[in-house]
Amino acid sequence: MSLVDELIALLGANNLITDAGEMTASLEDWRGRYRGAALCVARPASTAEVAAVVACCHRHRVPVLPQGGNTGLVGGSVPPSSGPVPVIINLQRMRRIGLVDLVNNSIEVQAGCVLANVQQVARDAGRLYPVSLGAEGSCQIGGTIATNAGGISVLRYGNTRDNVLGIEVVLADGTICSELRALRKDNTGYDLKHLFIGSEGTLGIITAAVLKLHPLPTRCAVAWVGVGSPAQAIELLVLTRQLSGSSLSAFELMNQLQLDLVVEHVPQRRSPLDTRHPWHVLIELADTAGSADPEAALTAILEQAFDQAIVDNASIASSQGQQAAMWELRHSVSEANKKGGIGLTTDCAVPVSTIATFIERANAAVAKLAPQAQIVIVGHMGDGNIHYIPFFPFAVWDGLEQTEALARELRRAVNDVAAELAGTFSAEHGVGQTSLDEMHNYKSAASLALMRAIKHAVDPLGLFNPGRLIPPEK
Ligand SMILES: Cc1cc2nc3c(=O)[nH]c(=O)nc-3n(C[C@H](O)[C@H](O)[C@H](O)COP(=O)(O)OP(=O)(O)OC[C@H]3O[C@@H](n4cnc5c(N)ncnc54)[C@H](O)[C@@H]3O)c2cc1C
Repeated sequence: MSLVDELIALLGANNLITDAGEMTASLEDWRGRYRGAALCVARPASTAEVAAVVACCHRHRVPVLPQGGNTGLVGGSVPPSSGPVPVIINLQRMRRIGLVDLVNNSIEVQAGCVLANVQQVARDAGRLYPVSLGAEGSCQIGGTIATNAGGISVLRYGNTRDNVLGIEVVLADGTICSELRALRKDNTGYDLKHLFIGSEGTLGIITAAVLKLHPLPTRCAVAWVGVGSPAQAIELLVLTRQLSGSSLSAFELMNQLQLDLVVEHVPQRRSPLDTRHPWHVLIELADTAGSADPEAALTAILEQAFDQAIVDNASIASSQGQQAAMWELRHSVSEANKKGGIGLTTDCAVPVSTIATFIERANAAVAKLAPQAQIVIVGHMGDGNIHYIPFFPFAVWDGLEQTEALARELRRAVNDVAAELAGTFSAEHGVGQTSLDEMHNYKSAASLALMRAIKHAVDPLGLFNPGRLIPPEK
């Protein structure tokens, strides 16, 4: 029997997509920059079915590509354009959300659950699942774990890695490895879940997880602030930290060009300020204590910042609707950039104290290589994670030669600056296809050798998402 016939026998014809037209959405990435071919898209409904599908692919020596919501920004979730054609496994039928354990502050979910649905179930029970990002309406829990997604709440709650208590994984030969426990302490040797968190589908397929929940903030204040420079934004961050204590839950930065792109390309987005500023900051304070007053705290912080001439203008949201509108501006940046032109998104993180230097040096490096590039900057400033984006309107990009080489050079120039400042080229998006070369450039030979040894031990035939994350030996 052929592999496809075996998979049909396992899942039923309805749950195995083989028609190229029907597969289209799974073959191209969110930005439309990477495209490949697949044998089929398998849609199992249980861990046992995932295991059977994977075991079948293993017997046939056919590669497997785990795919979640396909919102990844580095081309890791779509098949390669050449080489062996994989079976895509998508867990969209595995969307069971367990009961919230209010005492343990945890919840067990299947990996195909959409992130926003899990947040909502937690919220309905008076708890917070803090991982939050622009794609939360479509990305899956499995995808967020496989990429160790960051987002807007990392400065207070950590990234996905910090919010996963246990996982269940199907390994390359179909073995189910369950570490699905809700424990905060377990010192029984290697913490295997961490091997799979951030592994980008190269070691196995995550089928379920126990997530850590937090108290749900009861009061929250959000402000949009105009400042003159990244250095002033950092001064504002320091002041906010000093005066707000643990209630600071987000501190996001963008430049005026980024805001302009959002307002121009995404319907119903308007700047909260009627003045233009080189830089904009979004601050959120949130508290769980009934007596706390984040709005008063934020007002006091901004008054002091005005007195110290750190900020130029600010608006505190006066309703939940206004708070949501400020957040929608922030969450619309990827959509705006996709519509507005070609943005060569980078994903660097540097120590927060060096952000201004990072931006200054990156500006100089990019200007040398491509003086016509506009610079779009947006970032999770509180984490030192700056998406520095050399940006080209479509007409300008189409007029350039050797665009692929230029894109590589520009990203390398920005990543070099981050490396000079002891930073990283991949803070939250992962490596995927976009940054595979950078692994050679910035990871030590010892680290790469160890990663290869782990990959070989867990997936000796190299069937899981081949050619991703770990570059071939030179
Ligand atoms: C508008 C927008 C905003 C975004 N904002 C952020 C942000 O602020 N922070 C951030 O970190 N990211 C952000 N992203 C990137 C992306 O949403 C995240 O990387 C997300 O975690 C990917 O989840 P997904 O389900 O879409 O995974 P996919 O894109 O489908 O897959 C991503 C990778 O995970 C692997 N994978 C998927 N599911 C599984 C599984 N069950 N088991 C094993 N491997 C699996 C895939 O093989 C692939 O390598 C954004 C994307 C968009 C489009």
